[in-house]
Amino acid sequence: MAHPPSVDRIARGLRRSGLPDPLLVDAARAAIAEAVERDGHDGVDPDAVAARAAELAAEQSLRLLQPVINATGVLLHTNLGRAPVAFHHDARYSNVEFRLDRGTRGSRSDHAGTLLARACGAEAALVVNNNAAAVLLTLAALGGPGRAAVASRGELVEIGGGFRIPDVMAASGTELIEVGTTNRTRRADFERAVAAAGERIALLLKVHQSNYRIVGFTETVEVSDLTGLGKPVVADTGSGLLDAACPWLTDGPPAWLADEPAARQTLAEGADLVLFSGDKLLGGPQAGIIAGRADLIATIGRHPLYRAVRCGGLVLRALQDLALAYLDRRGGDIPFWRMATRSVEELADRAAAVAAAVGAARPEAMQAVPGGGTLPGVTFPSYGVALDGDHRAALRQLQPPVIARVEDDRTLCDLRTVDPADDARLATALAALGTTP
Ligand SMILES: *Cc1c(COP(=O)(O)O)cnc(C)c1O
Repeated sequence: MAHPPSVDRIARGLRRSGLPDPLLVDAARAAIAEAVERDGHDGVDPDAVAARAAELAAEQSLRLLQPVINATGVLLHTNLGRAPVAFHHDARYSNVEFRLDRGTRGSRSDHAGTLLARACGAEAALVVNNNAAAVLLTLAALGGPGRAAVASRGELVEIGGGFRIPDVMAASGTELIEVGTTNRTRRADFERAVAAAGERIALLLKVHQSNYRIVGFTETVEVSDLTGLGKPVVADTGSGLLDAACPWLTDGPPAWLADEPAARQTLAEGADLVLFSGDKLLGGPQAGIIAGRADLIATIGRHPLYRAVRCGGLVLRALQDLALAYLDRRGGDIPFWRMATRSVEELADRAAAVAAAVGAARPEAMQAVPGGGTLPGVTFPSYGVALDGDHRAALRQLQPPVIARVEDDRTLCDLRTVDPADDARLATALAALGTTP
């Protein structure tokens, strides 16, 4: 044949994919170019080109942001958006910066910020894009050029994704004064730094070792050790547990939460500010919360960088719904806590039902993990289904895609992180695997 197939005709043939025309044209062009490159201008097989274009369009569809079934057993899976959040709202204006009581300009902290502050016992709170932004903004606003922050050498952490405390400190323009050693730091180390650098010191920083532990001959300073030195104590608690007592859970805190710092207790110990993520143990959308002394929060809110890292109405509204659930003690309305506290018996029953519907799958006890760089080494009992072989790639192509894990050449689907409403979908998906190996 003398001419390669027409781009338009191939693109039209891909319309069922639901992708917009320009993307279908790109897929058709790419498939034709590949075929011409391989087989020469006259040797192109139109059917092969159409099939390849369909493959490219399918790959493009999989790159779109979409809901997935998380069957990994990792509750806060960073690649899957950490905490699952529900959010539906019509196209409407909202009083994001408007006081309905006075008819005057309001503040973005009036709603979610105020409620979150109430929930963790703080005077005030400010919401920003994520906890990395919370740390950067706090250091820039309280510290900045010519000023310094003191931190323990054992807490100069890297959280992942390039978030390193010394680098964030440098980006904020604040000088980092490291005290203590990798394994041991005491109050006296901070005292000496304050005595030596005096006025230059803007704050004392305590950072939670979220994703690792130092064991053996160790000594760390607690927040209570840092108070009374005449400098604001800022604690980056990372995970966003609001209250160690978990009053929103009828059965109180689960055992695996032990040792995780909580905002309310950290403030009660004497921190002037706590900084934490919205999408880790808080169970909300990606956000960073700065909670504590109202005067410091006001200073931070006035810094020009706040404008660059503040949240939009969608996130603030989702956080407000979350804060209301916490204050109402409706832990069951927070998907993260619902999944985290499900009994193994319930999961085992669901696994038996899914396995029965699939045939090739077996119900099996397994271990779930909190994830999200929190609670390293912590696992808790879970239940799911296991299939021989590695089926991850096929599961990812399904609608909705299912993300599973593989151990010893077996595919494991942990039901702790699966919404029960998705069990039937999961069973259908797994059953389909059996028929198309
Ligand atoms: C996770 C974490 C961060 C970063 O939070 P993001 O919300 O992911 O930006 C910062 N500090 C600590 C201690 C953390 O655990």
